[in-house]
Amino acid sequence: MTDNRDRLNRTIDYLRISVTDRCNLRCVYCMPEKGVPAFSHDEVLRYEEIERVAHIAVGLGIVHLRLTGGEPLVRKGIVDLVAMLARIPGLESLAMTTNGTLLAPMAHSLRQAGLQRVNISLDTLRPERFRAITRRGELADALAGIEAAHAAGLEPVKINVVPIRGLNDDEVVDFARLTLDQGWHVRFIEWMPLGESAYSAREGLVSGPELRRRIEETFGPLAPAEVEGNGPARVWRIAGASGTIGLISALSEHFCHTCNRLRLTSTGALLPCLFSNLEFDLRTPLRAGADDATLRRVFREAIAHKPACHRLNETDGRATAAAASREMSRIGG
Ligand code: SAM
Ligand code: SF4
Repeated sequence: MTDNRDRLNRTIDYLRISVTDRCNLRCVYCMPEKGVPAFSHDEVLRYEEIERVAHIAVGLGIVHLRLTGGEPLVRKGIVDLVAMLARIPGLESLAMTTNGTLLAPMAHSLRQAGLQRVNISLDTLRPERFRAITRRGELADALAGIEAAHAAGLEPVKINVVPIRGLNDDEVVDFARLTLDQGWHVRFIEWMPLGESAYSAREGLVSGPELRRRIEETFGPLAPAEVEGNGPARVWRIAGASGTIGLISALSEHFCHTCNRLRLTSTGALLPCLFSNLEFDLRTPLRAGADDATLRRVFREAIAHKPACHRLNETDGRATAAAASREMSRIGG
């Protein structure tokens, strides 16, 4: 086994770094209305600590980094962190996932600091519904964020949509049309049963194959396509569109056999799988003055224990006990 190859011969080259569990929104499928109890300042990794972990990761061949949260843009000084990470020798890509509502005034500085791309989450194109889904956001702010991302060259800008039956799935065709009219790269992410929403997710889930069928009914057959940083998405194109449609089907067509990622929580735990409670503590050794070899060992442990696959499709359709007791905002979505 090389440093970043796991026992199933998967190459682990991608780390999602959650910089905070806090968020300015409260999306109904991600966070409870009251928010989640915030970690104290001391519990959360400092930027120097994140930088050290990222150095170790890149040294092991984990050369693609993505900042996420919570909402990464609510953490003070995030542009400085981007600049610190962008300087790491050997790093191949640095991206961010954001709800976009705070992005407009920061997009240019983030690009200047070395951020290469953004994924922006947007579940509706209707202002009233945006307020209802996010419980506090304004659609205009998210759209301004998308525009600013393009203007700053954070390309390709990808739009993440979580379609939920009865909530926003009537907009699937509208989003697909934007790949034709505006060249958007839209990715539909299957709703996953995490945290408090675990049970209702089953009724709300709109599967990737169903989405494809619904889009093809309006636009005709989709052709396979590619977009930079594909990740787990299967990517398609409507005939004549400059944009693309990605389908990320963690449940209906899981992609565990090609999973290449680890997650770092804001409190310094390394998670080998989104749907497992396994975690490997980096913060304690970091703060005890551990040398690089010790931190590398923690990474190797996490890689060695990466589960073969999640078990969300087992039992009676509920998430298994081991899976998914925390919201995405706490894990680092
Ligand atoms: N706040 C940022 C945002 O909204 O993009 C970054 C963090 S958010 C947790 C990352 C992504 O996870 C978003 O695209 C969001 O829609 C998605 N997400 C959150 N909860 C989810 C769930 N239960 N199932 C599927 N996707 C989820
Ligand atoms: Fe916040 Fe992102 Fe979760 Fe929405 S999906 S509540 S924006 S962390």
